[in-house]
Amino acid sequence: VEENNERAEGPVMGSVPKGKEPEWDDNIGYFIKKRLRVWCRLPNGQWGPGKIQSTSGDEATVSLSLGSVVKVSTEDLLPANPDVLEGVDDLIQLSYLNEPSVLHNVKHRYAQGRIYSKAGPVLIAVNPFKDIPIYGNETLTSYKQKAKDSPHVYAIADAAYNEMMRDDKNQSIIISGESGAGKTETAKYAMQYLAALGCGIDGMEYEILQTNCILEAFGNAKTSRNDNSSRFGKLIEIHFTTSGKICGAKIQTFLLEKSRVVQLANGERSYHIFYQLCAGAPSTLRDRLNLKMAGEYKYLNQSECLVISGVDDGMKFHKLEEALDIVQIRKEDQEQAFAMLAAVLWLGNISFQVVDNENHVEALADEAVSSAARLINCSAQDLILALSTHKIQAGKDSITKKLTLQQAIDRRDALSKFIYADLFEWLVVQINKSFEVGELITGRSISILDIYGFESFKNNSFEQFCINYANERLQQHFNRHLFKLKQQEYEEDGIDWAKVDFQDNQECLNLFEKKPLGLLSLLDEESNFPNATDLTFAIKLKQYLNGNPCFKGERGRAFGVCHYAGEVVYDTNGFLEKNRDPIHSDFIQLLSSCGCQVLKLASPSSQFGGLELSMQSVGTKFKSQLFKLMHQLEKTTPHFIRCIKPNGKQLPGRYEDDLVSQQFRCCGVLEVVRISRSGYPTRMTHQEFAGRYGFLLMDTNVSRDPLSLSVAVLKKFNVLPEMYQVGYTKVYLRMGQIGTLEELRKQF
Ligand code: ATP
Ligand code: MG
Repeated sequence: VEENNERAEGPVMGSVPKGKEPEWDDNIGYFIKKRLRVWCRLPNGQWGPGKIQSTSGDEATVSLSLGSVVKVSTEDLLPANPDVLEGVDDLIQLSYLNEPSVLHNVKHRYAQGRIYSKAGPVLIAVNPFKDIPIYGNETLTSYKQKAKDSPHVYAIADAAYNEMMRDDKNQSIIISGESGAGKTETAKYAMQYLAALGCGIDGMEYEILQTNCILEAFGNAKTSRNDNSSRFGKLIEIHFTTSGKICGAKIQTFLLEKSRVVQLANGERSYHIFYQLCAGAPSTLRDRLNLKMAGEYKYLNQSECLVISGVDDGMKFHKLEEALDIVQIRKEDQEQAFAMLAAVLWLGNISFQVVDNENHVEALADEAVSSAARLINCSAQDLILALSTHKIQAGKDSITKKLTLQQAIDRRDALSKFIYADLFEWLVVQINKSFEVGELITGRSISILDIYGFESFKNNSFEQFCINYANERLQQHFNRHLFKLKQQEYEEDGIDWAKVDFQDNQECLNLFEKKPLGLLSLLDEESNFPNATDLTFAIKLKQYLNGNPCFKGERGRAFGVCHYAGEVVYDTNGFLEKNRDPIHSDFIQLLSSCGCQVLKLASPSSQFGGLELSMQSVGTKFKSQLFKLMHQLEKTTPHFIRCIKPNGKQLPGRYEDDLVSQQFRCCGVLEVVRISRSGYPTRMTHQEFAGRYGFLLMDTNVSRDPLSLSVAVLKKFNVLPEMYQVGYTKVYLRMGQIGTLEELRKQF
């Protein structure tokens, strides 16, 4: 297993957004005179607070708050915000908007246990890695009653719910961030809030919360970055009645990491459920499944990591059984599912012996084979045959070929992965059945998306390729909503709005999606050539895509993509096989004759129906899943949450500036703040505006239309021209202006 969890060296994420405050150069004298605070870039690249003592030419002498005095280029200085703005709720409120100021503000809040901040419309959540008393019924109630309005995931869930009720429009809460940043926990808090608001129909909200426990058991694992890492993407759609009560739910999952079932990096674990089953199954079940302790299975003991500190797998198993009961999965189905898990574990213990002088092998007929066969419900002989030979159809005849050791191991592992992935899909189908809604009321749902964030490691493979492609799509969605729509609205209303630069990533998406010359199409094409290799694939990419500005040809099997969040170099090793993800016809025959409910239910009939294997490639299937997802999200009002991981060690109280700033750049927080500030956050129709403030004119000439009334109000009260714009339908006001008018209104 490749060590794949190290960060690439140097700055891999996107460049620092442009936009050093333009007024800064002129102001430096002012900062010196007033001895105001500045940020000074230190030799280690980090920013430290200090005060300018003197300047000469391009050089400044700065006394740092830490005590020392340094001489730096004025290029390495940025204005710091006045003390009164320390720790503001919304980064938009900062006078000086630069990277160190934003970072400092969030850090300052974090140190006080205020893990949430706003960046305009986006909620930023920094993982505390410890329990903090900001959740539960009491807090929940204060958000519900609007007694509290400081940034919180509850406030986001509350806004989504209220907008759904008010506008009859579906909502979505889109949560992103690196592994370990807190997406899944945040999603659970959002669900908890919605459950509390929408409780009603037979306690369904309680049942829905139980799905987390089930999906985490089967889809989460300990990795080097997170003890409870989700190895799949998830969208949960919660449906409400017209009166706002929860009445159903639907779960969709994306790209389960199948390889984890058979192969583990040192110190990581397979899916929690295996360890839970081994530790917690009651003795009768153990006997029926011939279940051993986790340490006796090769799939589990290969990584020298069987337990997670602070986690009792046995107890978790009992919780899981309860949850399965609550979502009404029948006992016999539960047992079938456990049998499939045990079958996978026993498959991993199957070994092979050489049977001829051409190094062909055959599975050993031992306890592993007999147990696996019994659990799958086939004969040991059939299983041995399926694992040791390859049947090739040649016209009406079939030829049986023997396999070498590596081929046989690959087949055995392919079977294990297939069974597990199928079991996972089956589980999702079952869960969805129990939450099925009769007739859906349109505009009455909230979807929560918890999906892996952008990944850039030293070694990036097919998995990162898919994940980053998904993030590229989500980023476009984010851009469209926050930037394009806003801009469009201004333009449509005929107001002059200096367009704010933002990275449009359409070009990168084209690189992935274009037919026939895009990454995904070329991958499929190459996957269909019998003689193609990962190297020929890499060569082909370079041949056809070199002109694309987002594509970078690299040496050998590698190629680079310029993502919105930075450049990532992918190694094509294993791309073709992972994209084909073949399931051998021999297995299909084997499994279709075994009569196992769990496996058959989830499998599309095309897979089991005949021997026709024209299955979609993994890449293409993922792309269409993603398109469906985007289509669905586009019909909702989105709410964005960006989770931030403050350190790579899962420790409380540690905030590593570099790591955080990298994530900030990656999710475009600074651009969001900039765009929100440069815009006009307050907008009112002329009718609304004239209705509310028109009387201030004390004008007897009532014949005026709302537009001219609005203009008259703005003029009379000396609102500066750069502070407002008058559109065809609305008045647009800059931050703070509405407060002044409200004050005037109160005085009357
Ligand atoms: P992955 O992409 O690997 O699934 P993730 O972003 O879903 O990662 P989580 O599993 O949600 O990350 O969080 C990792 C751990 O951080 C949690 O198990 C928990 O210990 C801690 N954590 C996250 N959010 C919070 C929170 N709000 N309060 C306390 N602890 C938290
Ligand atoms: Mg997660």
